[in-house]
Amino acid sequence: MNGYDIVIEGARENNLKNVNVRIPKQKITIFTGVSGSGKSSLVFDTISAEAQRQLNETFSAFVRNRLPRISQPDTDLIENLSTAVVIDQKRLGGNSRSTVGTITDIYAMLRLLFSRIGKPLVGSSHVFSFNEPAGMCPECSGVGQVVQFSVDKLLDKSKSLNDGAILFPVFKVGSWYLNTYTHSGLFDNDKRLADYTPAEWDALLNGKESKIVYRSIGGDIESNYEGLLPKLTRLYVKRDISEISDAKRETVERFLSYSECNLCGGSRLNQAALGCRINGYNIAECAAMEIGELIRMIEAIRDPVAGPMIGGILTRLNHLVSIGLDYLSLDRQTATLSGGESQRIKMVRHLSSSLTGMIYIFDEPSVGLHPRDVHRLNGMLRQLRDKGNTVLVVEHDREVIEIADYIIDVGPLAGTRGGEIVYEGDFAGLLRADTPTGRHLKQSLPLKTSTRTPTDWMTVTSARLHNLKDVTVDIPVGVLTVVTGVAGSGKSTLINGAFLPSHPEAIVIDQSAVGTSIRSNPATYTGMMDEIRRLFAASNKVSASLFSFNSKGACSNCQGLGMIYTDLAFLEPIRTICESCEGRRFSDEVLEYKLNGKSISDILAMTVREALEFFSRKELLRQLQTLEDVGLGYVTLGQPLSTLSGGECQRIKLAGELHKEGNLYVMDEPTTGLHMYDISRLMDIMNRLVDGGNTVVVIEHNMDVIKRADWIIDMGPEGGHQGGRIVFEGTPVQLAAAEHSITGAYLRKSEG
Ligand code: ADP
Ligand code: ADP
Ligand code: ZN
Ligand code: ZN
Repeated sequence: MNGYDIVIEGARENNLKNVNVRIPKQKITIFTGVSGSGKSSLVFDTISAEAQRQLNETFSAFVRNRLPRISQPDTDLIENLSTAVVIDQKRLGGNSRSTVGTITDIYAMLRLLFSRIGKPLVGSSHVFSFNEPAGMCPECSGVGQVVQFSVDKLLDKSKSLNDGAILFPVFKVGSWYLNTYTHSGLFDNDKRLADYTPAEWDALLNGKESKIVYRSIGGDIESNYEGLLPKLTRLYVKRDISEISDAKRETVERFLSYSECNLCGGSRLNQAALGCRINGYNIAECAAMEIGELIRMIEAIRDPVAGPMIGGILTRLNHLVSIGLDYLSLDRQTATLSGGESQRIKMVRHLSSSLTGMIYIFDEPSVGLHPRDVHRLNGMLRQLRDKGNTVLVVEHDREVIEIADYIIDVGPLAGTRGGEIVYEGDFAGLLRADTPTGRHLKQSLPLKTSTRTPTDWMTVTSARLHNLKDVTVDIPVGVLTVVTGVAGSGKSTLINGAFLPSHPEAIVIDQSAVGTSIRSNPATYTGMMDEIRRLFAASNKVSASLFSFNSKGACSNCQGLGMIYTDLAFLEPIRTICESCEGRRFSDEVLEYKLNGKSISDILAMTVREALEFFSRKELLRQLQTLEDVGLGYVTLGQPLSTLSGGECQRIKLAGELHKEGNLYVMDEPTTGLHMYDISRLMDIMNRLVDGGNTVVVIEHNMDVIKRADWIIDMGPEGGHQGGRIVFEGTPVQLAAAEHSITGAYLRKSEG
């Protein structure tokens, strides 16, 4: 190694044990190790945090004083850093105006192309922008959809007004709003809506505004009658959305339906823009094509004026193909992309940039990719490196680890039993290393041969959503089913879009954040905190409420958070330790109260595993054991849930479900964030659920999960238009023998 390595000495963030590492620059370095071993603490909390802090230091004093102070990571020394860019799996989100085309800048380039060579010429490129008045459809203001209240969602037709037929919350039985209706004299209030005459329907839904007077105990009441749709539309749709609180907006959302705008057909553009064509296609038709199709259309353009523009567009489109996103279209809203897709789109933006000498940091980029497509991802990582960048990747996937120039294995286990560098070097060396990673990379699991027998079947009939080609498929009850297929083949569409709507009883365990309050932690989430507070109260003869984060016992400076959060407009909020309680969250008085020698703050700082040794109450032990069982033994009882990764969120939700039976569970890529070692434990949990009389359906690419399924549904053969079919249904042994299945081929390969 040369003198330009990134040098880190004495790193101690979270569980790191005074770690020293050197990371070669302009190389691909992969960080691996079991979940909770300290990879993120090293890569994100130390390297990326310090790079951000050093960057802030370079700003003028004027700017710096307006940025919050990022405290130095707990480290003795960090040298030779450069600017770091983190490309994570946070969804791109964004409003309905943000699409794959706008976020990659390809749509802007396409606009330019149309403004130059489209026929008839319509002038400037603003005309093709649905985000600008010159181009947007006047009917839907460039959104492509019109929003309205859905009658089906608003009304329960099997009920009468008096029984609460109007489901919208402000129309509760006895409410002022409903009284205006029931006293209007227009309806028989005990008649089921299903029996209404057309005239009654019209009055209920569309009735014009009119004054009504009705008698009540307090005297005559004057009120305005107005049909349900105009009333709700006026109150909630035709007004400045920013005036409506988030909570109310969420409620309203549940009663809305979206339909394509009639004027522009969903294309968002006005008629002038849509009339302009290249080789017969307008810009909206181009944006609706799958990337592969669009490339062929652009390549066919023979216009010398457009040469350079076409080259630029094709380069970017090919970046999308090269990371396996060829099934997307430019008009796809970014808010509908998955975490893995979002991460790969962000990657495209950086591949097209000419910056060199940067540090690029990736968080498990293989998420959502079928083994067949991982080599494409690897190509992108190499390309970034070869442009002179340093690429740091947190990853568990064998095929990605294999391409590393350098590997740093963190472990050996999680939390206090991890936090050390257990191996550094190349892949061949890792295979010989006696670490959890080395050991798991060497072994190959056998296919499951004794599969469970389904007790029944659930049928999805003629599904046609998105790319599904009239799919009819049976999903078995009482077993573990894995749905596989390359990205974009239609797995989520089949399960989330076609199957789940007719199975509202299903329990979906996804990776979305748990707990809405910034004060939530494993102790509050599981309900253990109430019991712990009672134990403190009983042993100290004081009120249990003293030990609550929102009582007068909490530190008044940070309101019991232990941290001070500073919001930044466009960046992640910054947290600094509360200087008043030094992160202990409670007032000095409360910290005096002890339970077997420990303060409430000491207990919140215990890991689940430590708490298992400390407590003796049966109910607490059962809850702690469940957390340990799902592989969360290393988290502390007081760790804010907001610091948990997606995979950890999924497992904490799973912990709450382990004692139920007769349920249907659906999970989307539950192995995200999990090391091979953790996957075995996850499989144990899923098997426990099935053995307990539940049905489990998971969407997965991971071969170790596929091998141990009872039943596999393989989708494909490709992504997008060329997918949407069931390629295979059966057991792992049958899949390995299936000639026509891509997944089957990889299963045979991983069998060795
Ligand atoms: P990995 O990335 O390898 O999964 P992490 O670096 O996220 O592991 O976690 C290492 C340890 O530090 C774990 O015990 C984890 O619970 C703990 N930890 C991570 N972030 C925080 C935090 N913000 N506060 C307290 N503990 C944390
Ligand atoms: P998988 O889960 O197998 O990766 P998806 O079900 O996400 O595949 O996608 C299948 C097809 O449906 C793809 O062509 C994808 O672009 C399309 N698709 C998925 N979600 C949406 C959506 N919200 N809007 C439009 N098209 C979608
Ligand atoms: Zn429109
Ligand atoms: Zn405090």
